[in-house]
Amino acid sequence: MAKPISAYVYFLGWIILWILRFPYIRQSVRTSGELYGSERYDQFLVGFLFLGTSILPLIYIFTSWLEFADYAVPYPLVFLCALLYFLGLVLLRKAHLDLGEQYSQDLEIKSDHVLVTGGIYGAIRHPMYAAGFLLAVAQIGLVQNWIAGFSGILALSIFYHLRVPREEAMMSDTFGEAYLSYKEDTNALIPFLH
Ligand code: SAH
Repeated sequence: MAKPISAYVYFLGWIILWILRFPYIRQSVRTSGELYGSERYDQFLVGFLFLGTSILPLIYIFTSWLEFADYAVPYPLVFLCALLYFLGLVLLRKAHLDLGEQYSQDLEIKSDHVLVTGGIYGAIRHPMYAAGFLLAVAQIGLVQNWIAGFSGILALSIFYHLRVPREEAMMSDTFGEAYLSYKEDTNALIPFLH
């Protein structure tokens, strides 16, 4: 059966997401740094996230394998989710611009790593993960399927809870007091609530 238009909106957003991320991933692979902890573990976490936000939605969009678990979302909600996805992309773009060359997919301290506390990082410590949550909530309304719609938020929640304590430990090991006081001044995901 044909998929609802929202499925293709998700696919379009997903393509824009990867076009946006690609130069930063490439740059990160090309610059040297020191990995923190187990690279395998990080790759597993990133792969798990990819399964929930990319592989399952793509299976939903381009095959009928998950059809038995489809649901229907009313149009106003679909529109809201499309808007949320767009906001997620804008936030992700801003975070990439502000984090610049410090970015890496795995936990890593680059050889000339500086602590970023300005731009969007002045408001929250994890804007990229916050953007991920916006995209994952939007996924529920755009990918209208109990498996492939909810897999993003499920995978991201697990990823977030396993990744962030290690990331923050790495940052405070590296930047000491400077990171601890930055942490005092900011929230992880939601601004203005401090
Ligand atoms: N958690 C952040 C960054 C994700 S990218 C976010 O959600 O926006 C992960 C890498 O970013 C980590 O390996 C770490 O080296 C780097 N990083 C995270 N916060 C940083 C900061 N405030 N300043 C500099 N580098 C940072």
